[in-house]
Amino acid sequence: MSSGIRATPEVTLERAAAPTRLEWRVATVVSVRAETRHARTLVLDVPQWPGHRAGQHVDVRLVAEDGYQAQRSYSIASAPESPTLELTIERLEDGEVSPYLCDVLQPGDGVELRGPIGGYFVWEVTLAGPLLLVAGGSGIVPLMSMLRHRALAADASRARSPVRLLYSARTADDLIYASELARLGSAPDVRIEYTLTRSAPADWTGYNRRIDRPLLEEVAWPASEGTRAFVCGPTPLVEQVANLLVEFGYDPLRVRTERFGPTGS
Ligand SMILES: Cc1cc2nc3c(=O)[nH]c(=O)nc-3n(C[C@H](O)[C@H](O)[C@H](O)COP(=O)(O)OP(=O)(O)OC[C@H]3O[C@@H](n4cnc5c(N)ncnc54)[C@H](O)[C@@H]3O)c2cc1C
Repeated sequence: MSSGIRATPEVTLERAAAPTRLEWRVATVVSVRAETRHARTLVLDVPQWPGHRAGQHVDVRLVAEDGYQAQRSYSIASAPESPTLELTIERLEDGEVSPYLCDVLQPGDGVELRGPIGGYFVWEVTLAGPLLLVAGGSGIVPLMSMLRHRALAADASRARSPVRLLYSARTADDLIYASELARLGSAPDVRIEYTLTRSAPADWTGYNRRIDRPLLEEVAWPASEGTRAFVCGPTPLVEQVANLLVEFGYDPLRVRTERFGPTGS
């Protein structure tokens, strides 16, 4: 987006009544965290945030001095249990909005957002049955909210659904949340597999190709009535994986998809 952009126009929010989900509110950047060379997390304090479910997203709006507006959707990375709202944004070099969110916004700045949005691509710890998560690139973000929710949910008496995550990225350096995933993946009922599509380090022990039928067959749960799958990332990856899962016998109603963008990872 051109210079002169600002995240927060001179908006006076109505203080008397809590904004509804689809009204814009001004969040404050509490801190920022580099995740990879191309991605960073914004930790936000959102006044009167109504709470969210794992998998939902928000819309973020930027307004230029001449009134030009750009709006994009960003999945919520944090668990519903978290006191702050976290978004993780991958910078597209020629992008209009993501470079601003990745490079320019700083702690103390305001940013307009509305949400939470979405009731289809959501998972809650109360849902029984094995869970399969498949991510391409920044498609890991809403799945991370699900994994964090699964780890943090207070209902310890309930047996947690066993989970498998298949995460595809270009290179090892592009893996977002790598150390947290390593920690989560050490639990006995969590299995995490990675595949790198461009280059892999010499000592790499994961897969190193795009997700194809044999790879998905090796990682996915065998089809069963209770299995749920959430697939998120670039459109070609999402379509390929969802089609394969249905061919494997997954119930199409339990294969939930979220498409982030037009290109492959
Ligand atoms: C429901 C939903 C949730 C999303 N959550 C996230 C998230 O958590 N983190 C995140 O980083 N992004 C997320 N996205 C993608 C995000 O909304 C933007 O599309 C992305 O940040 C690019 O915006 P931009 O303005 O920088 O690029 P644009 O100016 O819109 O596009 C620049 C160039 O990149 C191409 N492009 C646009 N989007 C993508 C993409 N996603 N991948 C590859 N190429 C693209 C365009 O065709 C164009 O050539 C989500 C999208 C949706 C629909």
